[in-house]
Amino acid sequence: MTVTDVLKIDVAVIGAGPAGLMAAEVLAKGGARVTVFDAMPSAARKFLMAGRGGLNLTHSEPLPDFLARYGAAEARLVPAIASFTPGDLRAWSEALGQPTFIGSSGRVFPEAFKASPLLRAWLRLLSEQGVTFAFRHRWTGWNADGALKFETPDGPRLVAAKATVLALGGGSWAKLGSDAAWVDWLAAKGIAIAPLRPANVGFNVAWSDVFKDRFEGQPLKGIALSFGTQSIRGEAMITRSGIEGGAVYALSSALREVVMADGQVVLHIALRPDLSADELASKLAVPRGKQSFSNFLRKALHLSPVATGLLQEAAIAQGRQLAALPPDELGVLINAVPITLTGTAPMARAISTAGGIVFDEIDDAFMLKRLPGVFVAGEMLDWEAPTGGYLLQASFATGVAAGQGVLKYLGS
Ligand SMILES: Cc1cc2nc3c(=O)[nH]c(=O)nc-3n(C[C@H](O)[C@H](O)[C@H](O)COP(=O)(O)OP(=O)(O)OC[C@H]3O[C@@H](n4cnc5c(N)ncnc54)[C@H](O)[C@@H]3O)c2cc1C
Repeated sequence: MTVTDVLKIDVAVIGAGPAGLMAAEVLAKGGARVTVFDAMPSAARKFLMAGRGGLNLTHSEPLPDFLARYGAAEARLVPAIASFTPGDLRAWSEALGQPTFIGSSGRVFPEAFKASPLLRAWLRLLSEQGVTFAFRHRWTGWNADGALKFETPDGPRLVAAKATVLALGGGSWAKLGSDAAWVDWLAAKGIAIAPLRPANVGFNVAWSDVFKDRFEGQPLKGIALSFGTQSIRGEAMITRSGIEGGAVYALSSALREVVMADGQVVLHIALRPDLSADELASKLAVPRGKQSFSNFLRKALHLSPVATGLLQEAAIAQGRQLAALPPDELGVLINAVPITLTGTAPMARAISTAGGIVFDEIDDAFMLKRLPGVFVAGEMLDWEAPTGGYLLQASFATGVAAGQGVLKYLGS
């Protein structure tokens, strides 16, 4: 085949992640002939990575609470999630032989915990439904005639489809396939795209050499992080370049906006959030005897070495001597350790991406208004959400909506 040959197909789904595969399933069930293209040699690499520490498919909280997690994008996502709900997602997983359970935090996981058995069953079903796959096909935009352009190991390839679903993901963890190169190709078509920003991400902190050498990789457990009016209980992890972990991610959207605008932002950590300032002060007022200060803090307040190290960092930054602080001041510091964040960790380490194709660019069927016949789904749209299953739920639900939109478009 020369590059001028154009392969004619019915529906091209580009991106074999959760959103694209779900669109393909809806399309195949609706009788459409679908080809799924992906740049990578195999499907859904980020989905598999998401399953590493336990695949958190969705969340069991009441739907209004669930929907509120999408913040500014809530109203835009309601129709899709209301017609493919967390309950529908669990039923879908079960139908693929992967029943789910609700964890103690309300998060929903497959019983197998990992993503691979679910993905295997899903790909088998799609093949049985007649979906074909073209891997190592990197989409690079459209030619002058509107054909889809792909780079493949056998050279360039052109594909003309009656309808296309773009489900190319955000920009995090680019090595898993979603490199956000689509931004330029869609922007060239006049499509408004909110700048991609890292979401559910850690932050940089200028730790002292002593602190990072000693405490890199160590967790801070049972803490509360606060920023503005938000306070989150949970865990964080010290990294060489800063801080990451569940409680940090939960605040990361608000922190990111300030650090990107101002260059820095202060996060406060409560190391013993169950104790009041008075309780802390009275526990700290007992004589220390000959023990080291860190031993004293460990015995009096069960503070770990990394927690004490954090207090040392904060005291040094204020030009104070930690051991010389009076009990009431030390008590206040223990439950409000200021940490200056100087930037976000890179996109390559973010769980997800904020920004993307703005919702005004699509109609109710998830079709791009400027490109009739081209539908979009998943993380490449302009929404963000915390971890907890909200990312996958919205990716799956928008995939369903785009698939249904294509069926309607082809039928009309
Ligand atoms: C470490 C980690 C853990 C996570 N854990 C969870 C979790 O437990 N729960 C949860 O809800 N979410 C989790 N997420 C987020 C979740 O995985 C994503 O939100 C979800 O995969 C997005 O789905 P998507 O289909 O929109 O995009 P993606 O999954 O990113 O899929 C996009 C696909 O498009 C392909 N592609 C991109 N560009 C091109 C191109 N030009 N040509 C051809 N193909 C292309 C990519 O190769 C990829 O296969 C996690 C993410 C990470 C990184």
